Amino acid sequence: MSQHSLLRFIPSFDRLSQDDRIEMLQKAYPHPIVLKWIRRAIEEMREEIDAERIQQPADIFENIVSSILEQEQLYRGSKIRPVINATGIILHTNLGRAPLSERAIERMIGAANAANVELNLHTGKRNHRGQHCVEQLCHLTGCEDAVLVNNCAAATILVLQAVAAGREVIISRGQLVEIGGGFRLPDVFRSAGVTIREVGTTNRTYVRDYESALTEQTAAVMRVHHSNYQLSGFVTEPSIAELVQMQHTAQIPIIDDLGSGWLGDHGRISDPTESLCRLSDPSIPDSVSAGADLTLFSGDKLLGGPQCGIILGKRKWIDILRRNPLMRAMRLDKLVLAALEGTLEIHLEQLGDSELPITQMLLASGEEIRARCEEITERIKPLAHCDVVPCDSQLGGGSMPGQTLNSYAVRIHCKSAHRLAKILRTGPTPVLGRIANDSIMFDLRTVRSSQTEPLANAIRQAISLEAEQSKAE
Ligand SMILES: *Cc1c(COP(=O)(O)O)cnc(C)c1O
Repeated sequence: MSQHSLLRFIPSFDRLSQDDRIEMLQKAYPHPIVLKWIRRAIEEMREEIDAERIQQPADIFENIVSSILEQEQLYRGSKIRPVINATGIILHTNLGRAPLSERAIERMIGAANAANVELNLHTGKRNHRGQHCVEQLCHLTGCEDAVLVNNCAAATILVLQAVAAGREVIISRGQLVEIGGGFRLPDVFRSAGVTIREVGTTNRTYVRDYESALTEQTAAVMRVHHSNYQLSGFVTEPSIAELVQMQHTAQIPIIDDLGSGWLGDHGRISDPTESLCRLSDPSIPDSVSAGADLTLFSGDKLLGGPQCGIILGKRKWIDILRRNPLMRAMRLDKLVLAALEGTLEIHLEQLGDSELPITQMLLASGEEIRARCEEITERIKPLAHCDVVPCDSQLGGGSMPGQTLNSYAVRIHCKSAHRLAKILRTGPTPVLGRIANDSIMFDLRTVRSSQTEPLANAIRQAISLEAEQSKAE
């Protein structure tokens, strides 16, 4: 049949609307949305016919309907919903990184209506936005002052633009990293109008390399945490303290981009996260006390708070940042500020163990996790072949690359692990696990205790559905 005559078989809008499946969509969604899906499906069909990929008129109607249904599923799948993170990746960027504490969530809800974001209730006068968080951060880290922006990437851009635009920043060759999602440091420097002055080699950079690169053009010296990659073996990099102590004028700030930034609770030496963190990361207070002029880190990584970028530093430099016009474009929303206040308060009270999900996930012992896995397998055993297996959890979010935490997972063997995974993702309680060969694993380190029961129920339902679907085939 010619392409021209095939085009005549494309159904009208009215005929499509009479189909039960399309009629259901029209009841569930506003008219313009469904109309857009229908138009797109028809347009695609025209292209298919033009490209001679459709030969039979009989295929046309069903193809258009399935394209419309597919668009609806894509639309529904992108809607943000609470999910159970059983991936074992604690700071999962696709899942919003650090889960917030109950306290932070309550604060956020409390700020949803009118709230004194830029007003001190005592004086009735204006405050800097984020003033309370800044004071909390000073208490926690010993810094002089701080500013808050949308994320650590924004913090980097603001700092570079405010202190170094039109001049040079010295950085070790081994630290010109891509952090993820295409965020590459060399591009960031360029967009801030800063020239990179690379020193050293990929694996070894010495203080003298920095010193001999200092010129009148030098605006700053920057150290960047390697984020998601690891240098090991024949490696040298000066510490922040060594950079601070090298011969340079006070006009050249030493900038420390910590990325994750952990607080390293004062005086809690027994903290097992400490030994874990010590291995690779200097803490935030370490950076401040070493004398960094500006210290940058994310709010939603090890700090366990909402997405934001925190810049600590000497008053002189923070004042310069505060006056920069970019600051207005990067300032924090009141919900984020409220959540951050709640999070920092927990750190100040040293109640992370009992209140901060990120700390609880880091500290959970293998035995504890295994016991919860057993609880779940007991409930699943009657339905599917499953067991409890040791596995490795990761920190994620570019924190502590290469370091893993011993954990346990519930492993389920089934006909199609991919199909079971999809059923779980798209179910009433979306669950994300990890697919390994013909099985799917649920690492309970990243699952909150309150989610154990809902997780068991979701898995049971999904197994039944999967069995039905594979029988139907
Ligand atoms: C994660 C990270 C960033 C980016 O932080 P965001 O808050 O995601 O913008 C920047 N630098 C380093 C070293 C990081 O690890």
